[in-house]
Amino acid sequence: MLRWLGFMFFTGGAAILATWLADRPGTVKIEWEGWGVDTTVGVVLVLIAIFSIAVSLVYQGFLLLRRMPGKISASWRNSRREKGYKALTRGMVAVAAGDAGEARRNADRVSQILNDPPLSMLLSAQAAQLNGDEEAAEQFFKEMTKTKDTAFLGFRGLFNQAMKRKDYKVAFELASKAYQGNPKSSWVAEAFLKLQMRHGIWREAINTHNDMLRNNLLNSKEANHFQSALYYQLAIQSLDSGDKLSAKTDLKASIKKNPGFVPGIVELAKLFLVDGKKQKVAKLIEKAWSINPHPDLAKLYGKTCGSGEKIDQLKHFEKLIIRNSDHLESRIVKARALINAKFWGEARKVLIKETGELVDQDFRAYCMLAELEEKEHGDHKASRKWLDAANKIPQGPLWICRNCGNAVPEWSSFCASCESFNAFVWQHPRHISSNSNGIPLAKNLFTEQKENEAADIEAAQTFSSDNAVTEKNKEQNDQQNAR
Ligand SMILES: [Zn+2]
Repeated sequence: MLRWLGFMFFTGGAAILATWLADRPGTVKIEWEGWGVDTTVGVVLVLIAIFSIAVSLVYQGFLLLRRMPGKISASWRNSRREKGYKALTRGMVAVAAGDAGEARRNADRVSQILNDPPLSMLLSAQAAQLNGDEEAAEQFFKEMTKTKDTAFLGFRGLFNQAMKRKDYKVAFELASKAYQGNPKSSWVAEAFLKLQMRHGIWREAINTHNDMLRNNLLNSKEANHFQSALYYQLAIQSLDSGDKLSAKTDLKASIKKNPGFVPGIVELAKLFLVDGKKQKVAKLIEKAWSINPHPDLAKLYGKTCGSGEKIDQLKHFEKLIIRNSDHLESRIVKARALINAKFWGEARKVLIKETGELVDQDFRAYCMLAELEEKEHGDHKASRKWLDAANKIPQGPLWICRNCGNAVPEWSSFCASCESFNAFVWQHPRHISSNSNGIPLAKNLFTEQKENEAADIEAAQTFSSDNAVTEKNKEQNDQQNAR
């Protein structure tokens, strides 16, 4: 449209100029060196126009000739670049498919054709790894760290290599460098945190964890539970070095992050007991009991009782039970205290419904019923019957790893089986289904609504004087550990 308007404007202008000249006739006379020309102004103007067009055409031709080599060279480069990228694509596909030979061939081709060292180095490193040549791959990764654009990938490659050969010192240094350059990268932050934990530098791990939270790399509820365990580890480290004051501060921080965190509450309660602060311990445990009842808490609560009289102990435990009276763990504690105080009938009512069914299919409940038969009626046969029934159900609850299903009687921050951190939850093994190999499936743990439903063999050991029960527990513990 614009061109057409330009053409119309130009032809219109030329017509107006021609008409204007025709209306004003005139002559031009040129004399030079004895040579002369007489002509009209119109002819001279036409000649000037023809001359100008000719000069312009010659100039355009000159420019075309001058640009020709460049254009030919650019076309050749484009074609080569295209070939290079095709080789790169084929190389990447070969890496994905695990075809080491094809990856190597294409990596060589890319480095010959493409003048793009970072791209060819990445492919070459991956091809070298596929060929099992870790040394060559390491050299490529090291080269990559020297270029700003590929430094991050280079660090990642070197980090993965170090982790593979379990060189955690080098892996830590690499993760540290990568984290300084890119703290918002999820994998870098996670890797750095894990290595800080592996090296036992818990304060730094807490700082990294806080940074991850600030950078929206974590879910806040899960993060609180995780950090609770980090503070716990820090406190244990302080305890190991004899710094009880710091240990108390860190344990309080741990409980603040997760008020139901049993290992933290237990450790703090133990420290308070050493200081003779029984009331403080009682309050601490009563508060925790309403959130997450656990036999270890009941065991420590027993130590806050003033008198050694069984009836006083029963009254004392009532204050704890009332905090979470419907919970299985409260029933177990109540039954235990009633048996100790020789309230046989009351104890039986806690364990057995009016219909004759057991209130809960809990190993300790069976053992206490056996104890009741023995102590109340001296009925060995009935007692044996309950113990036989106890044999048929899984012992529990236990600390069970959410990641691999490993079940242990004692909590630890790292799972010995899968090395997961803070993965143990207090649960009944009956809540875990097994696959065909008999390996518990951790995913089932997450579908349970009452995640921390409690019960414990240790409580039975603490409150009971019945050796048969204790032996039975030990036996089952051993069986569990053997698994
Ligand atoms: Zn595990």
